[in-house]
Amino acid sequence: MKRVSILGSTGSIGKQALEVIRLHKLSVTALAAHSNIKLLEEQTREFNPKLICIYNDDLYKELKIRLSDVNIRILTGMEGLCEIARFSDTDILLNSVVGMVGLLPTLTAVEAGNTVALANKETLVAGGKLVMELAKKRNVNILPVDSEHSAIFQALQGNDNNEINKVILTASGGPFFNMTKNQLQNVTLEQALNHPNWSMGKKVTIDSSTLMNKGLEFIEAKWLFDLSPNQIEVVVHRQSVVHSAVEYKDYSVIAQMGVPDMKIPIQYALLYPKRTKCPTEKLSLTDYGTLTFEKPDYETFECLRASIKAIELGGAYPCIINAVNEVAVESFIKKKISFLQIGELITDALNHFSFNEINTYDDVIKFDTGAREYAESLI
Ligand code: MG
Repeated sequence: MKRVSILGSTGSIGKQALEVIRLHKLSVTALAAHSNIKLLEEQTREFNPKLICIYNDDLYKELKIRLSDVNIRILTGMEGLCEIARFSDTDILLNSVVGMVGLLPTLTAVEAGNTVALANKETLVAGGKLVMELAKKRNVNILPVDSEHSAIFQALQGNDNNEINKVILTASGGPFFNMTKNQLQNVTLEQALNHPNWSMGKKVTIDSSTLMNKGLEFIEAKWLFDLSPNQIEVVVHRQSVVHSAVEYKDYSVIAQMGVPDMKIPIQYALLYPKRTKCPTEKLSLTDYGTLTFEKPDYETFECLRASIKAIELGGAYPCIINAVNEVAVESFIKKKISFLQIGELITDALNHFSFNEINTYDDVIKFDTGAREYAESLI
């Protein structure tokens, strides 16, 4: 029986992963949550892990009291996440925390030789070079969970990475597809949170509405599949049925399709390379009838343009724009800045900072912190 640990078990990906785990009767080694102690308690009682972690240490005591009748080790903070990440009594670590906080646990898991199912975008955006170099050195598999990267990974099975011409990264276009900058002036938080196809957490839903999500995925794809930026093409595909594709040297294009449901890529990563029934709907192509593909509007969706620019420039730029985006999205959620200001802040940061390499985890933290401070000073 496969043993799974989950960082971010009370979030959208974590909950769906536990559905998959429940269906296939996998064993749960460890669970970690940010602050939802009520759900973490329920999950602990149902799945009986050996270790749990509540990231927010203000809630540590209360969780201990709630679970005082259960024989379990309870951890807290970044140290707790990393202890779970390096725990040897597990087969796969699903990292589905949100934000830069996911990077150190990923590095820790890889260092310890644990396979990582990666749903934390920021890990590869901010620390792609570090993570991939370490994974190579330690011979550790990083299995993508994001639907697009899972699609590329699935389309790569049985083929060689150096036979890739390019990858086609599909984007739903988000709730504001086809709108002009002018129309986006007064977009509200509620409108940005209303995604047409996918049900996701708040941060990634906002990122989808700005197309920053696709920008982060572009950078992730570069690192995961060892591509150069000009080998990645973003295509808007409104129905989210073709989850991405690979064009090979012979111009064969292999795509992965399915209904837009994260449980499919989550299950593929957790059970890899096995395919078996999944708790989701079947895809009916004739129900969809038409699938459409269009070019993205890089002028209106500044975040996407800036992300591609950042990875072309390389060095610390992807880390910087990721940090600025985290601050900007938080401020947009708190209604301190407008929708379009998210992209403006990112473009501004790209122009403000000069080129620097990232060689260590401390470099990542340094540029991440500097970029956050810069963004806050502008807001
Ligand atoms: Mg995605």
